[in-house]
Amino acid sequence: MSTPAPRTTRCLIVGSGPAGYTAAIYAARALLNPVLIAGIQPGGQLTITTDVENYPGFADVIQGPWLMDQMRAQAEHVGTELVNDIVLSVDLSKRPFLVNCDSGAEWLAETLIIATGAQAKWLGMDSEERFKGFGVSACATCDGFFYRGKQVVVVGGGNTAVEEALFLTNFAEKVTLVHRRDELRAERILQERLFAHPKVEVVWDHAIDEVKGETDPMGVTGVRLKNVNTGETRDVACDGVFIAIGHAPASELFKGQLEMDGSGYLKVKAGTAATAVEGVYAAGDVTDDVYRQAVTAAGMGCMAALEAVRFLAEQDHAAAQHPISHKEAEKIGAW
Ligand code: NAP
Repeated sequence: MSTPAPRTTRCLIVGSGPAGYTAAIYAARALLNPVLIAGIQPGGQLTITTDVENYPGFADVIQGPWLMDQMRAQAEHVGTELVNDIVLSVDLSKRPFLVNCDSGAEWLAETLIIATGAQAKWLGMDSEERFKGFGVSACATCDGFFYRGKQVVVVGGGNTAVEEALFLTNFAEKVTLVHRRDELRAERILQERLFAHPKVEVVWDHAIDEVKGETDPMGVTGVRLKNVNTGETRDVACDGVFIAIGHAPASELFKGQLEMDGSGYLKVKAGTAATAVEGVYAAGDVTDDVYRQAVTAAGMGCMAALEAVRFLAEQDHAAAQHPISHKEAEKIGAW
């Protein structure tokens, strides 16, 4: 069977969180007929949260998955082609950029907007790995329901940890938040809700030393906690452990091709969404380790699309001034 020829597009967007969808909305409205490849988790991280209270424009509390449905519908409505596929590799060494997908599809993109977001981080312990999916989770929204009337431990001190802990109080009998320092970095309003909640206990200055459990049937029975100051350990019984210690950028695909910082965040020129490769832009959590909000990701998606539009207009203008022969075009990979 012959492999189908790569499809071409003026603007390929990788990722379907707020950055990707917003880039798509702007690129579509600039008549670029963008193609958006949704990735492993269509809708991104907001599809695994619940209440969203800080996305402007909604007086009532809205749900993360609903917000993403709306963004997807809007992107489609204005003319984005949505593709449910996963990008496996990219070649940014020449334009048009070649993008290979899991389905076998290949794309040639005149501009590329990277909005691949970030993924939950894990502690990196063997015992954590052993019980993943059997009591160890990184998503309270996905798995909280299984802990009705049970005891759970949440690890972390940021917004995610506090939100997950509060969400879990809807199901669990007791929620223990374990944090490695003696203060949280979560927003004040969330901290106040957490401290006021009768089902929540906060254990300061402790880290998880080991997840304990049984193998028949597979399940968590507790955690061994270690005091980070004294080294003392103690066991706490629980049925589930939720790891909420932040996120790492999904930038693996671009290693060796785009500049990144020590943590893997893609570097862009200050005040823009432009990477060092002309025609390649990055937006949202894959490039932002400071704000990491849905609304800032959306803003960066907008910037990336507007820059792609401007870049293509300049290219078109230059081509009109200096038309090249078909032969020359083939030689340099243009069309
Ligand atoms: P985060 O703010 O980076 O917090 C990560 C937490 O995990 C920190 O408290 C950190 O401790 C702890 N931690 C990191 N590595 C650890 C390790 N190996 N062992 C134990 N603890 C560890 O991450 P996040 O809470 O996922 O939030 C990410 C971003 O999304 C933030 O900008 C946040 O504001 C945003 N967010 C916003 C909302 C909202 O506005 N509703 C909801 C969720 C997330 P230290 O404090 O000691 O560093």
